[in-house]
Amino acid sequence: MIVMKFGGTSVGDAERVHQAAEIVDAQPLPRAVVVSAASGVTNLLLAAASASANGDDAGRRAAVVSVRARHADVLSGIAKERERLAAGAVLDQLHAALDERLDEVAAAAVCDAAKSDAIVATGEKAMSVLMAATLRSSGTPAVHAWADRVIATDDRHGNARPHRERTRDQAAALLPELRAGVTVVLTGFIGGAPDGSTTTLGRGGSDYSATLLGAALDATEVQIWTDVPGVLTADPRLVPDARVVPHISYDEAQELAHFGAKVLHPRTIRPAVARGIPVRILSTFAPDEPGTLVTREASGDRVKAVTVLKQLLVLTIDVPELEDLAGVSAQVFAALHVQRIEIAAVSQASSRRRMTYLVDAGARGGCETVTGLLNDALIDHDVEADVRCEEGVALVAAVGHGASAQSSALARMLDVLHRSGVAVLSSSLHHSNVALTAAVPATQADQAVKALHGALIKPESIVGKGRRPRRGDLLAESMRVG
Ligand code: ADP
Ligand code: ASP
Ligand code: MG
Repeated sequence: MIVMKFGGTSVGDAERVHQAAEIVDAQPLPRAVVVSAASGVTNLLLAAASASANGDDAGRRAAVVSVRARHADVLSGIAKERERLAAGAVLDQLHAALDERLDEVAAAAVCDAAKSDAIVATGEKAMSVLMAATLRSSGTPAVHAWADRVIATDDRHGNARPHRERTRDQAAALLPELRAGVTVVLTGFIGGAPDGSTTTLGRGGSDYSATLLGAALDATEVQIWTDVPGVLTADPRLVPDARVVPHISYDEAQELAHFGAKVLHPRTIRPAVARGIPVRILSTFAPDEPGTLVTREASGDRVKAVTVLKQLLVLTIDVPELEDLAGVSAQVFAALHVQRIEIAAVSQASSRRRMTYLVDAGARGGCETVTGLLNDALIDHDVEADVRCEEGVALVAAVGHGASAQSSALARMLDVLHRSGVAVLSSSLHHSNVALTAAVPATQADQAVKALHGALIKPESIVGKGRRPRRGDLLAESMRVG
């Protein structure tokens, strides 16, 4: 059993959907497909929801018209009339349900997370219908399935956590069709809460859907088909000469995703680890390229990629006495947890009365909101501490097995940043030994990534550039960290 996931750009228009369908057809049965919404559609749906809540009728209408147009474009590419009409009828129902929900939001003048999830699910639901119809139109037996009946989650709308066993039970219902050679096209990104309402797994969550489904179906491989030819040594938007990394371990993939490589949703790898399922990252634009293979095995001892997490806040918490630290930390962790603010890194200052938290609070109103909620939590629990907060911080990471085991690696990283004029606010080795990180001003984040990539990533194979390696080159290279 193979699970193949197609991201937003890979199903962005009629031509891309056809290309994806061809890629599906080339894979052996049994196979399941997971699709994202067409690129931009999730944002349009969120814009429609917030315009409705704000009484902005024109804004709502413009967003809905664009969503419908994107779906109509893919629909028009379905050759067989019977399939086109049947898919069109399901899309009409989805769009009508969308209008009803937006009316409800407009009437309430607020869009809660549950409503928002039901609204954004329209994008993935429409794409699963369109992809299944496209496959059928070219003679491939296929059906669509909506994950709010397959991926079981808790009720944390907007960032739901899956329930593995219930998902396995529900996914079993897909097996007869899969075994009969029917390609099942499942919606990515969404799940179902215990009360039956639709949830979402967080932005970019379709990658996670694919490995959750892969684990539930005991897949032999999960393929993430995207718009880049694999996991690259850095985000190609920042570093145009970034290159494909042919193999990474689960640990490296998890660190890369955690520290900002958008190509994988941060939680994607976990379900694959549990069952040892290989994950491949492949490009729909270059389907014959080998891409990146992610497995349990570690290979090499170098820095393989440089990543960056932007829009972080640094929270500095000082306590009067060392013995207060544990109690205050407990309250800080609890308050961040309740507010679902993700912590990127934590450290304790040498004075031991200071804790520093790097948190991802980009969408939370920044320092004012976070400081306010922490102070409230500390007052509620009658604990004393001084909370300070700084915005505009980024965390750059150099990821690679064993890289941080070399004692010189962190020094090298700091030296590179220093020489390129980047101010390092704090730095750390990660206990997994798979990542080195440095907090830098957000304004210098891009510069930091470029400098680290230039210095720490192994140069492109000299052989690949058309000449044999000379001993001097190899020696020079063996001196490098990565
Ligand atoms: P999809 O819609 O297929 O899920 P995403 O846009 O979510 O695609 O992720 C792919 C994008 O991730 C790439 O276009 C690239 O800009 C970005 N990216 C960031 N870091 C990396 C990296 N290290 N390797 C590959 N892509 C990366
Ligand atoms: N469509 C969703 C998003 O844009 C999920 C995904 O693309 O993975 O976040
Ligand atoms: Mg993605």
